[in-house]
Amino acid sequence: MEFGASGETRRPHGRQGGSARRLAAAGPECETAAQFAFRTAAVIVAHPDDETLWAGGLILTHRECDWTVVGLCRKSDPDRAPKFRRALASLGASGMLGDLDDGPEQRPLAEGVVREAVAALIPASNVFDAVLTHSPRGEYTKHRRHEETGKAVASLWMAGLLAAKALWLFAYEDGQGQYPARAIPSAHWRQVLSAEVWQAKGAIITDVYGFSPSSFEASTTPREEAFWCFDSGAAYSGWLIQNG
Ligand SMILES: [Zn+2]
Repeated sequence: MEFGASGETRRPHGRQGGSARRLAAAGPECETAAQFAFRTAAVIVAHPDDETLWAGGLILTHRECDWTVVGLCRKSDPDRAPKFRRALASLGASGMLGDLDDGPEQRPLAEGVVREAVAALIPASNVFDAVLTHSPRGEYTKHRRHEETGKAVASLWMAGLLAAKALWLFAYEDGQGQYPARAIPSAHWRQVLSAEVWQAKGAIITDVYGFSPSSFEASTTPREEAFWCFDSGAAYSGWLIQNG
């Protein structure tokens, strides 16, 4: 999907509410895809593989965008770190990893610690059209680092310490663990991936990251991607209150 001729960034937030529901009802692939007109975007995730699971189709569909992907954990993981670099090559993105604690006990991290980890990987001087990250509520039941990452990124964006016109949050849920995470129907932006893009996304999960076809990751890999989209702190704050 190419940019419009003007190259103008269309603000997704202006199409929320009734229009978003109409778009979903009309079939998301064409109309909502037209809303993505960002030239630079940062994807900030907790772990290597989250960028592919939750936004890989968007990245693959919009090769014209300059993508920076940052993972906050696993820089020192001798298995996952090189796989992340290969995944970025497949996605046509640049990026790097940090080394936040990611032990199996998932002990809570102070928001300041996560914010510092983001800031260390993305200097405040970097300016993006959009930043994409986890929802503060995560995507499935339940991964603390996802939620912490979403909160920290949104907090930095609200404070103007992460410069981007738009904040997009992954919009998935798993019915409290009843089924693999899937797109939330009421999300502001949804897109059903083409078979080709979905296959390419799945191949990164299985062939690059090495997850078996029956793994949680491979069986989750959503064909429909969805995001909550905000172009102002007020819009995000209002959403937080409504979805508290
Ligand atoms: Zn993760």
